[in-house]
Amino acid sequence: MARDYYGTLGVRQDATSEEIKRAYRKLARELHPDVNPDEAAQARFREVTAAYEVLSDPQKRKIVDMGGDPLGNGGGGGGGGRDPFGGFGLGDIMDAFFGAAGGGGGRGPRSRVQPGSDALLRIQMTLEECANGISREIAVETAILCDLCRGSGCADGSSPTTCDTCGGRGEVQSVQRSFLGQVVTARACPTCRGLGEVIPDPCRQCAGEGRVRARRTITAKIPPGVADGMRVRLSGQGEVGPGGGPSGDLYIEVEELPHSTFEREGADLHCTLRVPMTTAVLGAVLPLEAIDGRIELELEPGTQPEAELVLTGRGLPRLRSTGRVDGRGDLHVHIEVEIPTRLDARQTELLRELATLRGEEQHTLANATGRSGGLFSRLRSRR
Ligand SMILES: [Zn+2]
Ligand SMILES: [Zn+2]
Repeated sequence: MARDYYGTLGVRQDATSEEIKRAYRKLARELHPDVNPDEAAQARFREVTAAYEVLSDPQKRKIVDMGGDPLGNGGGGGGGGRDPFGGFGLGDIMDAFFGAAGGGGGRGPRSRVQPGSDALLRIQMTLEECANGISREIAVETAILCDLCRGSGCADGSSPTTCDTCGGRGEVQSVQRSFLGQVVTARACPTCRGLGEVIPDPCRQCAGEGRVRARRTITAKIPPGVADGMRVRLSGQGEVGPGGGPSGDLYIEVEELPHSTFEREGADLHCTLRVPMTTAVLGAVLPLEAIDGRIELELEPGTQPEAELVLTGRGLPRLRSTGRVDGRGDLHVHIEVEIPTRLDARQTELLRELATLRGEEQHTLANATGRSGGLFSRLRSRR
């Protein structure tokens, strides 16, 4: 049974990618392990994340809409036991590995030795890890060179022979009668899978493939400043090719987990700080946990609602395409002033007295374009 990814995210099947993203962000904020450490919430978090991965990828979403399941019918996607080749689809990797007889075409025998496929591995990183970079040991399941035959696929002392079925051409022809006359079709030779040669005495460890599947551990070094979707290439760490062909590359794709406090915009960070009305009026020094350590935020007396304080250089490292870090982004603290709603008699009396002292019994209508480019541009700039 295909899973209900739309239901998991609580969106309709015709939801836009923006709606899907918003639904995911909202759920991820509630269920994030930092916020909600209990088992059930974490399981749900993995489900929600898997659903988002599928629905945010147009190709995978198409598979879902056609009634399929791009994550297969196995257990829950995401989490520890996730498919290490997620991005490519396990099917492709398996086909490559088992050398499913290359399509029709037929242009002479194809080489038994082929370059290996690239592999894609996703790792989840917290915002703190993105800020500092990581060096993490990761277990990868991949194809490695068969050490018994060194890639030849042949048992000790033997060698490949020409295929009898196709005489070494790698393809066979069949003639069919149709109302158009005779139709000759060529297809890959089923005996040698289009290779033109067979291994009469295959290596017993790799069954003639020249490579075997193995789990190995690699050290993934991810530089500071990476963001969701960025890929780090580890040259030659992908799959060994059929017949012991040269290895492909391994790409590690960063999947950034949403943070409970900060929202990211490139190298800049945004957070919201709620302060009581009296604090905004009187000013204060407020301790705040930034991404790079504690800061003392100075709130001026008379801070206005929706004020934005910019702390230069207290955002994330700015990673250039050269791989170098070039300074840091800024931290934007958005102030929200809490207006008290329930006042007791004494508090009401004090505020009335203050209002009288300040002669504030009247109100004024603000000039429409007076405030930071007008009301509409402020509404539009909100997300
Ligand atoms: Zn072997
Ligand atoms: Zn053949």
